[in-house]
Amino acid sequence: MATINHNFTKLSSGYLFPEIARRTALWQKAHPEATVLRLGIGNTTEALSPAVCKVLHDKVDLLSQRDTYSGYGDEQGDTYLREALVTYYKQHGVVLEPTEFFVSDGAKSDAANIQDIFGQDNIVAIQDPAYPVYVDSNVVGGRTGEFNKERLCYDGFVYLASNEGNGFVPEPPTQKVDLIYLCSPNNPTGAVASREQLKAFVDYALENKAVIIFDSAYCEYITEENYPRSIYEIAEAKKCAIEINSFSKFSGFTGVRLGWTIVPKALECEDGPAGLLNQMWNRRQCTFFNGASNIAQAGGYAVLSGEGLKQSQALVAYYMENARIIREGLSQVGLTVYGGINSPYIWARTPNDMLSWDFFDLLLDSCHVVVTPGSGFGPSGEHYIRVSSYGHRENVVKAMQSIEENLQI
Ligand code: PLP
Repeated sequence: MATINHNFTKLSSGYLFPEIARRTALWQKAHPEATVLRLGIGNTTEALSPAVCKVLHDKVDLLSQRDTYSGYGDEQGDTYLREALVTYYKQHGVVLEPTEFFVSDGAKSDAANIQDIFGQDNIVAIQDPAYPVYVDSNVVGGRTGEFNKERLCYDGFVYLASNEGNGFVPEPPTQKVDLIYLCSPNNPTGAVASREQLKAFVDYALENKAVIIFDSAYCEYITEENYPRSIYEIAEAKKCAIEINSFSKFSGFTGVRLGWTIVPKALECEDGPAGLLNQMWNRRQCTFFNGASNIAQAGGYAVLSGEGLKQSQALVAYYMENARIIREGLSQVGLTVYGGINSPYIWARTPNDMLSWDFFDLLLDSCHVVVTPGSGFGPSGEHYIRVSSYGHRENVVKAMQSIEENLQI
């Protein structure tokens, strides 16, 4: 008789976003006349840029002709795209080889799957609060005990608390860990790690032979000078870090689907030579994944070149103007806000120490605005909400007006 992977049963509750959708749908059913204003999920809303659309159409035309048709592409992703990624990194002084890039259908699957190449006995440290995929994938991978309902965390994980005291960028662990998940600019807090802060993690990882899994899905949202966009801007990071990135938030590819992971050849681990993890990720991807869509890859190439790059940056600027409106709107009603300057997310403290889900319900009920409860991102997220700047401008403005007119705190 088949048995299940019991680690699945440890997952604390429904995935955060389906739970928000469930509560919102219930509320909408009870209030069919109300228009719900959604600033919850980080889902892009603006159209793909013209330069990207042209290349997507052109690629479909090529596929429609026998002479120019192509099927499966190169193993780690189309070579021309990986070469364009090498050039993209060079802008920030980071030198990588095309064979260190692995093109995928997005950062979420890579962030979830990367744990496959690490032993089950690795001790995992997670920036807290965090994008839930890092936690859930390691729970399913068997690296934790049960979910502790009182402390709102899993036994076995090392949580690196991000809070007001440390500007939402934690210090490296004080005990020995093997894998460290970091995300900068951070989802959900919107905080961005400085060069010194990232260097402290790189120093820790080199000293402890740990591997950092660095999610830089929002690096194009950094507007202030001098913040690193890639962990490889820190000397020697190639020896101890994997980087995951995506076209989703940079160029509206949330539905098109395209991302990449860098596993440097210099990356070291406890039980094998440098280069082994690069080979293992290649083996993992070639065995379980057959490549990103060639249409999406053509679009990704357009994002990285000339007009496509400029137009994608204009899309980012649109969302960052939304972020400014949200920051100001929430401050105006007396909330304490963070983020939204180098990231599309605004992290706001709940009023009067309300629990995150209670404030979620209050905003939905009184203002018809959906946000994301901070506690869904980890124990340090309690008493915060995340507000996403992904939305049409008019809806963002309406949501802020509704909060200003209706929120009683
Ligand atoms: N990483 C972070 C930090 C994210 O916030 C998200 C999506 O919201 C992803 C990765 C997923 O990106 P993708 O659409 O490429 O799967």
